Amino acid sequence: MLDIVIDRKSYPDRGGVPHLALAGLQLRAAPGEFVCVVGPSGCGKSTLLNVVGGLDRDVDGRVQLAGADSARDIGFMFQEPRLMPWLTVLENVLLVTGPSPAAKLRARELLAAMGLGDVLDAFPGRLSGGMQRRVALARAFVIEPKLLLMDEPFVSLDVPTANRLRAMLVEQWQRSGATVLFVTHDLREALALADRVCFLSRSPGRVVLELPVALPRPRLPDDAAVQALQANLLAQHPELLAGLTTFPDGTTDE
Ligand code: ADP
Repeated sequence: MLDIVIDRKSYPDRGGVPHLALAGLQLRAAPGEFVCVVGPSGCGKSTLLNVVGGLDRDVDGRVQLAGADSARDIGFMFQEPRLMPWLTVLENVLLVTGPSPAAKLRARELLAAMGLGDVLDAFPGRLSGGMQRRVALARAFVIEPKLLLMDEPFVSLDVPTANRLRAMLVEQWQRSGATVLFVTHDLREALALADRVCFLSRSPGRVVLELPVALPRPRLPDDAAVQALQANLLAQHPELLAGLTTFPDGTTDE
């Protein structure tokens, strides 16, 4: 179980007034659950991932991940693939595991499953953006993470490339049993991926709505069922993507 309670997370401001980025945020995820976090720009999504991943400990609150021994149980994937240009594809993946024979075997298997078996010794600069993301995805899974934190990992890719990566992510997630926290501002991407979508308010961010997604997999963002779910949700909460939920009487929850 991942249990997040953030009472307050603020950043020091230049004028001396702290800037409150998250306040009263509570989020839980079951083991193996795929949770997407959707919210308007600047509401604190990246801040949330940094806190959950232990990259930022300056926070009032707690993050508990049952069964995890250390930060080594947490995998990351960011908007940029963040590969080392002077290391080969295989070496980039082994960077997070060390070069043990077992790690090498696992890295090769993962890279092959992602269609990169022929470019193990290539340098990232030779690869397309989509291939670089696949290397980053393999690197995220090679440690067999209990928790995978993903910050808009498929932005600025063309639609088929992004869909292929999403399918690879779902396949590896289902094999791994990892809990996933996936941040996106793309509602249809969230509905296509998640077991549950948590919507954040405007800054300072907190969870204003949770939506379980029971649609069968595989799903694509363009599937009619995904589009219908999106349309229903936005009919009920027209300003949800701006961080506001709407009560049945039409008033919004600020
Ligand atoms: P999101 O990922 O939802 O776009 P962020 O988590 O990046 O939001 O930022 C949340 C808020 O905190 C924003 O107002 C942003 O300007 C501010 N912020 C983020 N990082 C820092 C920082 N290192 N120092 C000061 N303010 C920050």
